[in-house]
Amino acid sequence: VTIREQTQVAIIGAGPAGLLLAHLLSIGGIESVVVEARSREYCEARQRAGVLEAATVRLLHDAGLGGRLASEGMECDGIYLQFGGERHHVDLRSLTARPITFYAQTEVVKDLIAARVAAGQSPRFGVTGTEADLTDADRPVLRYTDMAGSRHEVACEALAGCDGFHGVCRAAVPPAVLGETSMQYPYAWLGVLAKVPPSADQAVYAIHDRGFALHSMRTPEISRLYLQVPAGERAEAWPDDRIWAELHTRLAMPGQEMGTGPVLEKAVVGMRCMAVSSMRYRRLFLAGDAAHIVPPTGAKGLNLAAGDVALLATSLIRMLRDRQPDLAENYSALRLLQAWEAMSIACQMTCMLHVPADEDRFAVPLQFAQLRHLVSSPVALRAFAEHYAGPVSLEFDPGPAGAFAA
Ligand SMILES: Cc1cc2nc3c(=O)[nH]c(=O)nc-3n(C[C@H](O)[C@H](O)[C@H](O)COP(=O)(O)OP(=O)(O)OC[C@H]3O[C@@H](n4cnc5c(N)ncnc54)[C@H](O)[C@@H]3O)c2cc1C
Repeated sequence: VTIREQTQVAIIGAGPAGLLLAHLLSIGGIESVVVEARSREYCEARQRAGVLEAATVRLLHDAGLGGRLASEGMECDGIYLQFGGERHHVDLRSLTARPITFYAQTEVVKDLIAARVAAGQSPRFGVTGTEADLTDADRPVLRYTDMAGSRHEVACEALAGCDGFHGVCRAAVPPAVLGETSMQYPYAWLGVLAKVPPSADQAVYAIHDRGFALHSMRTPEISRLYLQVPAGERAEAWPDDRIWAELHTRLAMPGQEMGTGPVLEKAVVGMRCMAVSSMRYRRLFLAGDAAHIVPPTGAKGLNLAAGDVALLATSLIRMLRDRQPDLAENYSALRLLQAWEAMSIACQMTCMLHVPADEDRFAVPLQFAQLRHLVSSPVALRAFAEHYAGPVSLEFDPGPAGAFAA
């Protein structure tokens, strides 16, 4: 038996993009259904991003999601770039007035799920057999099987593909329309979550001749650390003492002590870029990692996903509530501009800070020339800071009828 339902927007994926979209749509009076392949516990525990740009923080506050973020988020003035035995400060606050905030993606997701549950609109977790049917150009259909084994068919006015890199929505778009391009780096990141207070007051991006290292943080007690490793490396090849020895070597600075502590989690993350040429097909709109993957070096992925759904929510509210489809028609073009801007700084940082796998002897002096120019030219430093700090604001506007206030 198939259970037939209707909603205005069907959202596939309860990552940051899908959950935030559902929340913003509800502010504009638009009803939605969110389906998610994983369990709530899995989504809330998945370790990923942790750097929020100022515009993302502002959107979360304005959308009434800023309670824990205000008390537990760690606002930081900037970042450090470390090379050639020196640590250079990039003061985002003074250069751009846009500091960054450390607040783990796990916590963003917990806050968003709690908000949906409190509104009586819990995402439907643990679904299987998700299908995005775009046969009828104006009336898409979402199909899925719930945890009890019942098949559902949800007729909607718009479908949001927020199902990440491995989801099903991109495959529902004809390849010639989708126009996907991608690129894989020859190295990866070993990501480590450790129970040790951060050893620096701000994130440290370090290039060393043994490879890149990043010292970052989640809370005053938990550090987030990354090491450049060859692509295809296994996390098991890295026992804890090897991790700490390598981190100490790559991040060493005279007079700066780095603590050690229990490793809570470690995993290897591939470094890739991917972008589609169209984030819309008929009434399917792609957002977040389903539409673009940027290498994690620029800390852009989560922030780009927030920017996508801010504009997508505004577009869908105008289209479905106010019957004005103009913004929805331009959604893809507008967001692809932002995605490529983020891609450019993420790729620039990736190339500038990682030791090339093939020991390209030409690339290394170029990296140091770029880094020296960056920290010695006020104009270059400001341009870099502008890029890293992200946009001034995100484009969410529910219109006069929307209750957009914390
Ligand atoms: C190690 C690492 C570090 C990172 N660090 C940063 C950082 O510091 N700053 C930053 O901004 N970004 C960072 N990112 C990127 C950031 O985590 C992602 O960009 C972000 O998760 C994108 O959110 P999303 O909702 O688009 O996709 P996802 O978080 O991938 O969510 C997609 C959801 O869709 C669900 N799904 C998939 N297929 C289906 C299906 N068929 N049916 C139903 N549900 C489905 C998935 O289970 C998932 O829950 C990092 C990523 C990694 C991996």
